[in-house]
Amino acid sequence: MKCCGWQPVVSCTAAVFCWSGNCVAATGDVVCCIDTCERWFFAVISLLLLVLTALLLRSRRQQQQAMDRLSEQEERLRLVLEGARDGFWDWDVTTGVSKVSERWCLMLGYSPDELEPTFNQWQSLIHPDDLAATMDRCQQCIAGGDDYFVSEFRLRTKDGGWKWILSRGMVVERNHDGTPRRVVGAHSDISAHKTVELELKKALVEAEEGRNKIDAILSSMADGLLVFDNDCAVTAINASALHILGKSADDVIGMGAAQLFPEGDFNLWLRQVQAGTNNRNAIDVDMFDRQHEEPRTFQARFSRIVTAHGSCDEVVVTLHDVTMLRKMSRLKSEFISSAAHELRTPLTAVMGFAELLLGDESLPPQQRREYLQIVVDKSEQLSSIVDDLLDLTRLEMGRPIKLMREPCSVNDIVASLLQRYRNEAPQHDFVFVPDSNDREVLVDRRRLAKVIDNLLDNAVKYSPDGGRIEVRSIMEKCGIRLSVSDNGIGLESAQLRRIFDRFYRVDASDTAVRGLGLGLAIAKTVVESHGGSISAVSTPGDGTTVTVFLPIVSD
Ligand code: ADP
Repeated sequence: MKCCGWQPVVSCTAAVFCWSGNCVAATGDVVCCIDTCERWFFAVISLLLLVLTALLLRSRRQQQQAMDRLSEQEERLRLVLEGARDGFWDWDVTTGVSKVSERWCLMLGYSPDELEPTFNQWQSLIHPDDLAATMDRCQQCIAGGDDYFVSEFRLRTKDGGWKWILSRGMVVERNHDGTPRRVVGAHSDISAHKTVELELKKALVEAEEGRNKIDAILSSMADGLLVFDNDCAVTAINASALHILGKSADDVIGMGAAQLFPEGDFNLWLRQVQAGTNNRNAIDVDMFDRQHEEPRTFQARFSRIVTAHGSCDEVVVTLHDVTMLRKMSRLKSEFISSAAHELRTPLTAVMGFAELLLGDESLPPQQRREYLQIVVDKSEQLSSIVDDLLDLTRLEMGRPIKLMREPCSVNDIVASLLQRYRNEAPQHDFVFVPDSNDREVLVDRRRLAKVIDNLLDNAVKYSPDGGRIEVRSIMEKCGIRLSVSDNGIGLESAQLRRIFDRFYRVDASDTAVRGLGLGLAIAKTVVESHGGSISAVSTPGDGTTVTVFLPIVSD
C-alpha cells in the first residue's frame, strides 16, 4: 500500500502506531503511513506541548502568588480585626461551616476549642428576642438580594450574660446561580455603646414621661399658667389660661404681653420682674369674662426662671381667680360699715330715750310708757341684730343651727307678726290668705318667726308706701308652703341669683335702706335646717315673691 501523506484515517477499525516512517500493524480497510513530513508534525506537536507546559507553569506560579497575596491579605485583615478587638468569621453557606477567629471566641469568654465552628452554634448563642430579626437579615443575604450583612444582636457569653454584637459581613464568593457560597465578616463588641444608647433611650422616655406628667398637671390646673420669654412673648400656656383669655393656643403663642394684657400694669410688672427690679410678685388683673358676661379679677403671680449663670431666661405667670375673694372682702367691709350703722341707730334711740326718762321725772305716765316702749323695741332690734351676728359666726364656722322644735301653727305665727306690722307700717296694705285647713308643724317657733319677720321686713323695705303685701299659706300633703309677695322694686335676674348670699345687698350705698345683707342667708340656713327649702321669683318694677316650704315632721 502506498503512502498517502497525512490524511484523515477513514473507517479505521484498529489502532495504527507509526514511528520514524515505519508503519506498525494494521487491521482494517485503510492505513495511513508517516514519512519525513510527518516528522514536522511531531516537531510542531512537541513545540506546542512545550509552550503549553510553560504556560501551565506560569499560571501555577501566578496562582500561587495570588494565593500568597490572599493569605497575606487575610493575615493583614486578621491583624487589623485583632487590633480593633473585633472577631473574624468566615461562613461557608453551602456546608454550614462557620470558622471564627480566636478573638471572636474570647469576646464571649470562650476558648476556640469550646465552640463548634458552625452556623448553628452561632445561631444558638443569639438572644431569643433578637433571633428572628437576625435570621431575617441572614435570609436576605442568602437569597441574593444583598451583598452586605449588617445586624445588631445579643450573644450569650460563657458566664451566662449577654453581649451586644455588631456583625458586619460581605458575600465574597457566589455559586453559578448567583447565590452566596461564602460570606466573611467581623463581630464588634458594642455592649458599652449599647448600654449608653439604652440608658439614653430610657432617659429620653423618662424625660418624655416627665414632660407628659407636667403637661397633665398644667392642663389639670384650675389656675391659668403662662410662660413669657425675654422679649415678653408667650412661649407656653395651659388650658385654663386659654379659657380665661378666651383664645386658642395658636393665637397666643408668640403674642406679646402688651398685646395680651393691654390694660393695667401687667406688662410693666412683667418687665420689672424680668429685670429683677420688682420684689413684690403679685398683682390683680381685671378681665371681662365673655362666657358669663361679667368682670372677673385674677391675681397674677410672677416668678423668674433663673439660669445657672444667674440671668433670667423666662418668667412664669399664674392667674388665680380671686373674683369671689375680692367680692367677699368688699362685702365684708360694707357689712362692717352697715353693721355699725345698724347698731348705732337703735342704740342712739335707746340712749336718747333713757336719758330723757332719767332727766325728766316730771314726764306724764303716758309719755313715760311710750318712751319706755321705744327703748324696749329698739333693744329688741339690737338683740335681733346681735342674734344675726351670732348666727353668722356659727355659719362661718360651719356649725349647724340648733333647733328647738315644738308643735306650732304657722298661720298663728304669721297672724301675730302681721298684727305688729299693721301697727308699725300702716302705710302698707297687709293681706293674709291662710289655708283654712291649718295643721300644726314641728318647728323652732322663735327661728321660724324670725324668718317670716325678715320676709315681711324686706317686703316693706323694698316696696313703696301704699304697696300691697300678701302672705299666703297652703297646706300640702307633705308640708306647708308659705309665700310673701310684694309689688315693690323687684330684682334683676343676676341680683335675684345672689340674694341668699351672705352680705349681699343690691344697694349697699350709704343712702340705701337699712340692712346687713344677712337676713335671707340666715333664713335659708334656718329653713334648710328644718329640711325645707326657700326660693324667690321677681320682676324688676313689679315685685318679688319669696316662698318657704316646710315639711311636716312627726315626733
Ligand atoms: P337686708 O338686710 O339687706 O335686707 P337680706 O338678706 O334680707 O338683707 O336681703 C338681701 C338683699 O336682697 C337686700 O339687700 C335686697 O337688695 C334684696 N331683697 C331682699 N328682699 C327683697 C324684696 N322683697 N324686694 C327687692 N329686693 C329684695
